[in-house]
Amino acid sequence: MPGHDHVIAPPAPASVPVRGGGSFPVRRIYCVGRNYAAHTREMGHDPDRELPFFFMKPADGLVTGGGDMPYPPMTSDLHHEMELVVALGSGGADIAEADALSHVWGYAAGLDMTRRDLQGEAKKLGRPWDMGKGFDHSAPIGEMVPAAGVNPGHGLIELKVNGAVRQSSDLSMLIWSVPETIAFLSRLVRLEAGDLIFTGTPEGVAACVRGDVLEGTVEGVGTVRTRIG
Ligand code: MN
Repeated sequence: MPGHDHVIAPPAPASVPVRGGGSFPVRRIYCVGRNYAAHTREMGHDPDRELPFFFMKPADGLVTGGGDMPYPPMTSDLHHEMELVVALGSGGADIAEADALSHVWGYAAGLDMTRRDLQGEAKKLGRPWDMGKGFDHSAPIGEMVPAAGVNPGHGLIELKVNGAVRQSSDLSMLIWSVPETIAFLSRLVRLEAGDLIFTGTPEGVAACVRGDVLEGTVEGVGTVRTRIG
């Protein structure tokens, strides 16, 4: 029907491969800031005095399949942030904490890669974080696993860089649990099926250089692997 056709080719939809087959289509990516106390302190803030806060990454920033992540432009301080990723199979607004996990389709291990120098400049100047956080290839993610059998409240979360442990903590150290995070976020925006939530990183964030191999694990969920190209 003339007048109803797309005027350009539609952008490719983003998705994450599911272990055992199929793919999870992605709508939006939300990220929680400063959600482990020790990381909050290493970034110079008081973990006891903050409500959860959120930022976003573009869905097409995902890097799947263990592929290389190109070293991004306009930075000389690319940091790794190892995180548990929650994938929603259904949505809603004002979701009750007690119902929150019923909206979760699955989980994955992910990396919230950060241009720390650009983020730091934005913080200092009171500017948005988008260019520090939401750049191309900024979200490497491993295979997704269905929620059944995963307890997002416990389990080792660890990142190795070139085989050496850089970040190591436990999901029980999350300041805002997965149900609390979903409930809080759903009061700010209506969540929908296909939304991902990067739940925050533990302490030990540090810079990466070209050639580094990053391998992250979330116990009971899986791994994320990428090489900085
Ligand atoms: Mn993060």
